[in-house]
Amino acid sequence: MRKKVIAGNWKMNKLANDANQFVDEVKSKLPQSEKVEAIVCAPFPFLAQLVEKTKDTKLKVAAQTMHYEESGAYTGEVSPEMLADLGVTYVVLGHSERREYYNETDETVNKKVHAAFKHQLTPIVCVGETLEQREANETMDHVEMQVTKALEGLSEEQVANTIVAYEPIWAIGTGKTATSEQANEVCTHIREVIAKLTSKETADKVIIQYGGSVKPANVEELLAQSDIDGALVGGASLEPDSFLQLVEAGA
Ligand code: PEP
Repeated sequence: MRKKVIAGNWKMNKLANDANQFVDEVKSKLPQSEKVEAIVCAPFPFLAQLVEKTKDTKLKVAAQTMHYEESGAYTGEVSPEMLADLGVTYVVLGHSERREYYNETDETVNKKVHAAFKHQLTPIVCVGETLEQREANETMDHVEMQVTKALEGLSEEQVANTIVAYEPIWAIGTGKTATSEQANEVCTHIREVIAKLTSKETADKVIIQYGGSVKPANVEELLAQSDIDGALVGGASLEPDSFLQLVEAGA
């Protein structure tokens, strides 16, 4: 049985004190169930303090992106080795905002996925279609291509340990959620694609999240779908109460 993974993507929000307060409030109230994993994807400057604060708690810390090289002349970048050294355990890769504003491509996502595994970081790989692609009936092909490229060259064990987040771009931060059926249809397709690339056994182990205007009011219905194993949540993850409700829905 796959566990549910709820990841709150803070994006470029909060200051150091707010981040600390959030974690102080959330960490003692998190459900102790092994059925759910709770993650905060925080801006780089807060990672060290949050890793320290969440030691011996069930809350895990993720970075929102990283470079694929271990070190070098890449001004402004953060390496996988640095994240691992801090004690960060997850990293979001290929978020649509990174693809849109920072030239993230399927090729760089693939390099980053390999780099993440090299440093024992669990990648959360984001894929998803634009509204134009959905209206042109290209969703399944597009997502298939993104997943195939992101996972290229990985061992079956690494694929099994990858988290895929299906995030239709038209549903991110817009208040428009895909219906649970629409979301599940694509998540099922992603699992079939992974089965084709590896094996059914491996595909059945992969955590596939849905993301796009998830909130306490719709999370239960989404998590009840056969192939949705969690949520990657932006706006509704910023307040402790709301984040806790999302996590409890997975417990
Ligand atoms: C996201 O940041 O990945 C996201 C899905 O944002 P929101 O929940 O605000 O749509």
